[in-house]
Amino acid sequence: MKILIAEDENISRRRLEKFLKDMDYEVISCKDGLEAWEVIQSENAPNLMILDWMIPGMDGVEICRKIRKLAKESYTFILLLTSKSKQEDIIKGIEAGANEYITKPFNQQELIARLRTGKHIIELNKNLLYARNVLRKKAIYDELTGLHNRHYMVEILEKEFSRAIRYQTDLSCLLLDIDYFKDLNDTFGHPFGDFVLHEFSGRMKQEARETDFLFRYGGEEFMLLLPNTGIDGTQNIAERIHSACETRKYDDGTNSTTATVSIGVSSVKLHQPSKSNELIAFADKALYRAKAEGRNRVKVYMDGSSWQYVNGEICEDKDIRYLKENISSILEKTKKAAVESLGLLVREIDDSKYQKHNQQVKQYIKLIGERLNLPPSITDTFKRAASLHYNFKTLLDKTLKSENKAMNANGKTEIKDHPYMMAELTELFDFFGNERSVLLYHHENFDGSGYSEGLKANEIPLGARLFAIVDAIATMSSKKPFGKSLPAEKVIEELAHNTGRQFDPMLVSLFFDIIEEKGLLNVPGEVLKKARKSVREAMAKVKSLST
Ligand code: GH3
Ligand code: MG
Ligand code: MG
Ligand code: MG
Repeated sequence: MKILIAEDENISRRRLEKFLKDMDYEVISCKDGLEAWEVIQSENAPNLMILDWMIPGMDGVEICRKIRKLAKESYTFILLLTSKSKQEDIIKGIEAGANEYITKPFNQQELIARLRTGKHIIELNKNLLYARNVLRKKAIYDELTGLHNRHYMVEILEKEFSRAIRYQTDLSCLLLDIDYFKDLNDTFGHPFGDFVLHEFSGRMKQEARETDFLFRYGGEEFMLLLPNTGIDGTQNIAERIHSACETRKYDDGTNSTTATVSIGVSSVKLHQPSKSNELIAFADKALYRAKAEGRNRVKVYMDGSSWQYVNGEICEDKDIRYLKENISSILEKTKKAAVESLGLLVREIDDSKYQKHNQQVKQYIKLIGERLNLPPSITDTFKRAASLHYNFKTLLDKTLKSENKAMNANGKTEIKDHPYMMAELTELFDFFGNERSVLLYHHENFDGSGYSEGLKANEIPLGARLFAIVDAIATMSSKKPFGKSLPAEKVIEELAHNTGRQFDPMLVSLFFDIIEEKGLLNVPGEVLKKARKSVREAMAKVKSLST
């Protein structure tokens, strides 16, 4: 351990030097206060020191005072060497910041004891500092990527936002989300996913400037905060990151792939957010937009009404294509969730051999998809098919009895007719098939005069016939502007009038029963009676037609 001594009396200093060196201290020896103060201010100043009280240049007490004012992280233990022993002198020394004092000539045992205390305190302090630094690091850094974390982001964003507003400078925000990251995890395994996150972060660090702030915002989401940067500069950086991602591979020696990224952009001057949170919310909306439009792109936020104008050009934004893409993403998520749940069911019974096999299959599909330039949605479908095949096969294998299995050409047992069984199991996931028929046929008329296929009577699915009636009643009776605000008797008359032509008489009649029984719509008795009569006539007509 290093120790500094400042003592002007030669004999006393030499005695101290020798004594300390014998105890294995590395001694820095000074003859006057100014010289000592120079050393103390230097970078590798010792934390342990013995200062003579009376010393030319700057006395020991003065040095103590100055040391305590230094903004130093580590602790300095100061021992005053003095011939004074009056209590007020001692108090003065302690108040100046000395830890202990010893009187000259020093007693060796006492000095050893004092130094032991000093070393102990210095050590304790070092440990505390270390712990504090570890905690501080944990509090503001993300462990996996080494980037700042979301917690710290809130602090920085608040500061930078206030600064931008106060000095009227710009501040821009990029939100980045890696595309189809779940699939990447799924295909190559979670550890490789971690590797990609780490690499991706490194690349972003390279793209960002010294003055930018980079955060891991969530799982595979990142934020880049650009102080003093307008929308043009920000867009440039975003495009640069975006295209860098498209071309550069992630390769850990075992697996290799590319991953695209979607980026949402917002900026203070362009979007005028009122709070710092709003700056993020704008970037988030833009990011969502980038995802909805097919991913792998940069989008600058525009308020709802102006989305369809990009660079002065009108996009075919409002048509059904975009609506479909938005809705597809819901379906996409649902499918992923379904396959995942199925996977969990299988994981319990499967040994990892087949899992590896499945991962490999999906990896090949991805590679071929990339080579053929297939749209991601198609590749996804193929990969999901592979997952379903694997999951169903595993389940069937465990569930079916041996008589359902047969030997194949390679001498291995295989489930008989498994393609049919798999198709049957997959049907369970076609969960909107029945609903679709209701929607498709709900404008068919009972007499065959409707659309979409001109079906009539029982050819029209029951659900569609039912929906046509309840929808009509609700529309007629509910308030404007959604409904027609018709009075109850008009609704009933209208219904009766169109029975047989538009509506199924049997179902209308059932409805009238319910209306009467439950006292719905407050329909006067005669009105219902009259209506029932025309429904009966319609029913008779249907019967005579069919016989
Ligand atoms: P999208 O294109 O819509 O962004 O699809 P996505 O699959 O990337 O989006 P989603 O947000 O549904 O999935 C993110 C996935 O990131 C889910 C989670 O398993 C994975 N993930 C989150 N944190 C980590 C992590 O620290 N390591 C790894 N390997 N994966 C992570
Ligand atoms: Mg002296
Ligand atoms: Mg995400
Ligand atoms: Mg993602």
